[in-house]
Amino acid sequence: MHAFHYDRAADIAQALRLGAQPGAKYIGGGTNLLDLYKSGIERPLRLVDVSRLPLAGIDVLPDGGLRIGAMASNTAAANHPLVRERYPLLAEALLAGASTQLRNMATVGGNLLQRTRCYYFTDPALGPCNKRTPGAGCAARDGYNRIHAILGASETCIAVHPSDMAVALCALDAVIQVRSESGERAIGITDFHRLPGDAPQQDTTLAPGELIVAIDLPPSPFAAHSHYLKVRDRASYAFALVSVAAALDLQDGKVREARIALGGVAHKPWRAASAEAELRGQAPTDDVLRQAAQRALEGAQGFRHNAFKIELAQRAIVRTLRLAGASA
Ligand code: SF4
Repeated sequence: MHAFHYDRAADIAQALRLGAQPGAKYIGGGTNLLDLYKSGIERPLRLVDVSRLPLAGIDVLPDGGLRIGAMASNTAAANHPLVRERYPLLAEALLAGASTQLRNMATVGGNLLQRTRCYYFTDPALGPCNKRTPGAGCAARDGYNRIHAILGASETCIAVHPSDMAVALCALDAVIQVRSESGERAIGITDFHRLPGDAPQQDTTLAPGELIVAIDLPPSPFAAHSHYLKVRDRASYAFALVSVAAALDLQDGKVREARIALGGVAHKPWRAASAEAELRGQAPTDDVLRQAAQRALEGAQGFRHNAFKIELAQRAIVRTLRLAGASA
């Protein structure tokens, strides 16, 4: 039995003080952390319960954007009228992400901090894992790697990030607001999650003790034309083999602006900026969409069991852009 301290933070200042202690971890809904604790993957010395902090509001920002408090449940965010009206892409991704029961418990802050579902990471009996034990090796590289990365992988880790919500946030240019005892800072979503490099044990750029307090969404011109597509092995809730968040700002039949982000393909939500550039100023014909999809997957590298994901991702991008263009 692993012993740990449990503290329910009465306010944010107390949470930050306790969260700065060695071996401390924040817990909100606990839907991922408790699973990892039970299987011995996570071994916190102190759990700081932040679920009762007043961080669940969803409010309009002065610039017309939206601030979603980190403790808002996935259900509350997905069903909020302003999210549905102004950021339907985010609502779709949240609804694709988990069962109702999980969405009711899970917070949006915790959603960003989900850890990979690489089989070798979650089950120590299957083999070594650099993310679990740095320097141990990566059983997935030469093992069963069907669900693994095709972009941005490293010699040490080929895992993918599991969140659907984060993929939509990436397309929407969200900003993550964090706090610690030393102050506040804002992190753009594309800088929040990391590629594995030679430190796959670090999923994000959060410093020890930093607490996510909110997710900010800038005003969006994409509400009329967006779509989230998740391709998975079974229709019931499963993690994405490939997912695509696509949003178009159309004027006079041409693309004024485009956003494309991919899930299930890399250690972080993958923003496809070169594909977006391919679309800008063009009428979204099938040829143009296919060209953009090819650009998005430039540099992709498959492993023994997952090379199919490269073409799957290209087809998924074309389909998602078509649906986004047709939606209104
Ligand atoms: Fe571990 Fe990453 Fe290798 Fe999976 S892919 S076994 S998480 S090091």
